[in-house]
Amino acid sequence: MAQTTSPVTDRAHQAAKRYIYAWGGGTAEGSGGMKDLLGGKGAGLAEMSLAGLPTPPGFTITTEACNDYFAAGEQLPSGLWDDVLQAMAEVERSTGKGFGDAKNPLLVSVRSGAKFSMPGMMDTVLNLGLNEATLQGLVALTGNERFGWDAYRRFVQMFGRIVLDVPGERFDHALEARKHARGVQLDTELSASDLRELAEEFKGIVREVTGRDFPTDPYEQLDLAIKAVFASWFGKRARDYRNFNKIPHDLGTAVNVVTMVFGNMGDDSGTGVAFTRNPSTGEPALFGEYLTNAQGEDVVAGIRTPQQISNLRDDMPAVYDEFQTIARRLERHYRDMQDLEFTIERGRLYMLQTRSGKRTAAAAVKLAVDMVGEGLISKEEAVGRIEPAQVDQLLRAQFDRAAIAQASRVAKGLNASPGAAVGRAVFDADDAVDWAGRGERVVLVRVETSPDDFHGMAVAQGILTARGGATSHAAVVARQIGKPCVAGCAELVVDYATRSARSTDSGVAFKEGDWISLDGTTGEVYLGALATVEARFEDQPELQQILAWADEIRRMEVWTNADKPEEAAQARSYGAQGIGLCRTEHMFREGERLEIVRGAILVANAATRAKARAAAGETLDADESEAVARFDAAMSTLEALQQGDFEGIFRAMDGLPVVIRLIDPPLHEFLPNLEEQLVKVTRAESVGGASEEDRELLATIKSLHEQNPMLGLRGCRLGLMIPDFVRIQTRAILNAQIAVKRAGGNPIAKIMIPLVGHVNELARTRQLLESEAKAVEAAAGVEVDYKFGTMIEVPRGALTADEIAREADFFSFGTNDLTQMTFGFSRDDAEGGFLLKYVEEGILPVNPFQTLDDAVAGLMKVAVDKGRATKPGLELGICGEHGGDPESIAKCEAIGLDYVSCSPFRVPVARLAAAQAALVSMAERDK
Ligand code: ADP
Ligand code: MG
Ligand code: MG
Repeated sequence: MAQTTSPVTDRAHQAAKRYIYAWGGGTAEGSGGMKDLLGGKGAGLAEMSLAGLPTPPGFTITTEACNDYFAAGEQLPSGLWDDVLQAMAEVERSTGKGFGDAKNPLLVSVRSGAKFSMPGMMDTVLNLGLNEATLQGLVALTGNERFGWDAYRRFVQMFGRIVLDVPGERFDHALEARKHARGVQLDTELSASDLRELAEEFKGIVREVTGRDFPTDPYEQLDLAIKAVFASWFGKRARDYRNFNKIPHDLGTAVNVVTMVFGNMGDDSGTGVAFTRNPSTGEPALFGEYLTNAQGEDVVAGIRTPQQISNLRDDMPAVYDEFQTIARRLERHYRDMQDLEFTIERGRLYMLQTRSGKRTAAAAVKLAVDMVGEGLISKEEAVGRIEPAQVDQLLRAQFDRAAIAQASRVAKGLNASPGAAVGRAVFDADDAVDWAGRGERVVLVRVETSPDDFHGMAVAQGILTARGGATSHAAVVARQIGKPCVAGCAELVVDYATRSARSTDSGVAFKEGDWISLDGTTGEVYLGALATVEARFEDQPELQQILAWADEIRRMEVWTNADKPEEAAQARSYGAQGIGLCRTEHMFREGERLEIVRGAILVANAATRAKARAAAGETLDADESEAVARFDAAMSTLEALQQGDFEGIFRAMDGLPVVIRLIDPPLHEFLPNLEEQLVKVTRAESVGGASEEDRELLATIKSLHEQNPMLGLRGCRLGLMIPDFVRIQTRAILNAQIAVKRAGGNPIAKIMIPLVGHVNELARTRQLLESEAKAVEAAAGVEVDYKFGTMIEVPRGALTADEIAREADFFSFGTNDLTQMTFGFSRDDAEGGFLLKYVEEGILPVNPFQTLDDAVAGLMKVAVDKGRATKPGLELGICGEHGGDPESIAKCEAIGLDYVSCSPFRVPVARLAAAQAALVSMAERDK
């Protein structure tokens, strides 16, 4: 358990420990820093009291009491009850009222309050301490009979539902029936005698459901309510919420007992909720709502339509001024936007809660920048407060607000993966592929998805499911492939037979081919194709400001993985400081090139063998000479094309480093699939004969077939077996560099060799490459500056990094392969198959291809230490997909990498995450 500060004042206690912290009358025993022990609500109430703000007196029973209660088998720790009685006596003294006193009754609320605000915990019980006797006192004191009965029926209703587990609808129905009988709409229109009868009816319901009379002894009410708060800590909703949000189960909840103040005493009373700034835009103006003559949750429960907080200025000017002053003070005090709850009792304002308010991504960024401008927080704090996911959100397309306002809403589900998607509804993954193949934009609608639907998800604009939560297959995969997703839309009935869906709530339906729009940021689904607005980075000065501050803070550079000049330019506009991975084989697949590459591969082995024989002084026969000629012709065409590609990239990244990886994948990836070719040839044979070309292709595919291509002839192995790949790529890179330089540019080339496991692989490749480089230099008559390095992605490479570093100027961690090989998982098989189950069932905490696994990070650390021991100036980066994942970026910072490299769209997120990681490591060093 985290450390708690020592109490401001001591307090005598009967229990073995001090479980109680009281506040009131301008002072408090606890303080805002004691969230662990007092929970967020208790700490806020203490802090507001210390600040002299008007808070009704009360006390907090600590989270420790909750934990001890469970440790003792759901028994209050001995002595605690005596301490509660003592604290109640103090509240009685400071309010001048008596708990259970029929003349001048003290009433309290009993409120749960954990360290983190948690929906799913127990609701608050108001007006506790009421019975027929104290009710009479309340009526006599206020002279307001209706108010008294309203307070009482609310109490029976709340206590019955929350503490005694009576189904809430029983009370709701009774209330509705009564309003109906009286011909009124609002409960404020019921008379005192209506409410009295209703209270009787409620008590009857309690008796019927629980088999006991409604408790009249205030102390018994208090005892039951405290235990109900404790019990709610392990309620199902609370437990699920903690599981989902990774909140530990052993924190416990505190209980707050707070003197009641009444917002339902007439038109000079009221209750409300307000944010100190606009939580949706960040505008610096009070934002909230209130209701006059109302209590507790009436505002949020939608019983009556609440008023804008700005109207309070006209309704009760003095109260409004006071509230505004308090809001400002609290914001300055907490140095963050606050979410406030207040009640006005006969013109007097009381503060009931303060906490940091939840906000949208746009508000978060604006608030943080404004608060730095106001001198409220530092740049570091501003950077620390933005969540990387919020940056991501701000860069995705969003629906036009005006379009949303006019749209017809179908349903609402879980906002599983952010972004706006528009497409025509399809109900099957194969259909999605067909439609998309015809150039249609589609949204895939399923009851739930399975790995079998992946191909459909991949071509869809977005995914909508009726079942499954935020960690369902649909949600996980959607986030992974960056598609908007609304999951678990329970109100949606999906009917595959008729290819249609209908919401049971709104009644709105759509069928295959209808346009729908889904908002993965809010979970909302609309009918029709809503207009979207591109999120333009250039138009978001506040986001740019935050990232500029992040740039000042971070130690690691942020590079990008880009294969094309357009991608490089995009990444550069997002702030990329180099290319950490340029995959040359992607250039092999484009358009006409694939044919040329295939042509080369068909004769690659024969030509390579023949060249070796010629080099040994043997004479070649005609077939051999022809293979060599065909091969060389294809390769030199490729070389020229690649040189053009590299020139484009160097120009786009002028002045910044570009790491180019030589050919990596197994050759079969460039050829047709074995089965398809076999079928093609066999079919052709049966109707007269296959072409020579097709048979040759089939033979080559067969000869290149491997059991485990991922562990077969690829990476540096390929370059060593067919050295011409290394030769032409080296020439293309260096000649591109020479050309761009001659044109006045500043190209910075780094050539990277993949999949090295043994230093000899790298040394041999290097010899090959250097002799080619010398030839290029000789031919051009200039010296070319380039760096030579390797990927570390084979565990043996990591473990022998000290040897490998002798041959390398830089290392780049290829964590996709390193993860595959460390776990012994084939990524494609794992992610499409058992891995999801592994994560669901907790066999693995996370998908290691998404978040860098600690053992893999450990291997990297070994490689970093060994590499730097050999070569202190060795440059170290990461180019696996982990380079764009904030949690993994934090691990890279800890390992001491020089840069992370990620896809262009992740660059802004990585800039922020790298700064946050640097802040954490600075804080750790300062400890
Ligand atoms: P939550 O954690 O759901 O916000 P709270 O404990 O804050 O629950 O209680 C909900 C509402 O009940 C508050 O917003 C406030 O309006 C009302 N409330 C709680 N305690 C009191 C009190 N002592 N006097 C008047 N109203 C109260
Ligand atoms: Mg509250
Ligand atoms: Mg690799």
